[in-house]
Amino acid sequence: MWGGRTGALSRVWGLWPTGVLGRKPLSCNAASLEGNNSPHCWNCGGPGGPLRGDGFFCPQCSALQPPDPTRDHFSLMDCNRSFRVDTVKLQHRYQQLQRLVHPDFFSQRSQTERDFSEKHSTLVNDAYKTLLAPLSRGLYLLKLHGIEIPEGTDYEMDRQFLMEIMDINEKLAEAQSEAAMKETESIVRAKLKELTDNVSRAFEQGDFEKAKEILTKMKYFSNVEEKIKLKKIPL
Ligand SMILES: [Zn+2]
Repeated sequence: MWGGRTGALSRVWGLWPTGVLGRKPLSCNAASLEGNNSPHCWNCGGPGGPLRGDGFFCPQCSALQPPDPTRDHFSLMDCNRSFRVDTVKLQHRYQQLQRLVHPDFFSQRSQTERDFSEKHSTLVNDAYKTLLAPLSRGLYLLKLHGIEIPEGTDYEMDRQFLMEIMDINEKLAEAQSEAAMKETESIVRAKLKELTDNVSRAFEQGDFEKAKEILTKMKYFSNVEEKIKLKKIPL
């Protein structure tokens, strides 16, 4: 029964955050049918990129190869498939990849390579952004395990949690001074930190249902955090 009311509350107050995952499908696996599964280079027909190094370029003619559709974000970014990622390492890998595939470096090359570089670059950006933020990283990891939290789905939340969210939303709505905003912001940050630690533990224990529940809570708090950011922008 509370589940039904929860849904109504979410709709009325817009508590359900949207756009956390963006509009595009998360998986890069379905991004293209023309991946480099084929062991041959599209340009010279030579034996292929995917088996050598990162597989971005043909070892014979140096032509840029299409993205590998079977590769997930963790593999692309050279991270273990785990919630815990080294964000400094992630950033280095991002810069390294953009130096390889950024469209600026392909302006003098064939149209095919320009198209591939656009695709690679988009994938690299997506992978980096997704893995950098704990919430999107957690949702992506869940998705790789076959579990999704579809946008707009009413999820059974406990009453205490909903009260907490209502409370913080009220605080935010009433916050008139910078100090009041800062106070609300620090509550939200502390809460997100706590939830991030908890979800990390749930993933380590392989408890995906628990991870799903915590990530759903993180979505709510992350939504409040977005509202705070918007409120901070001077009109
Ligand atoms: Zn080639």
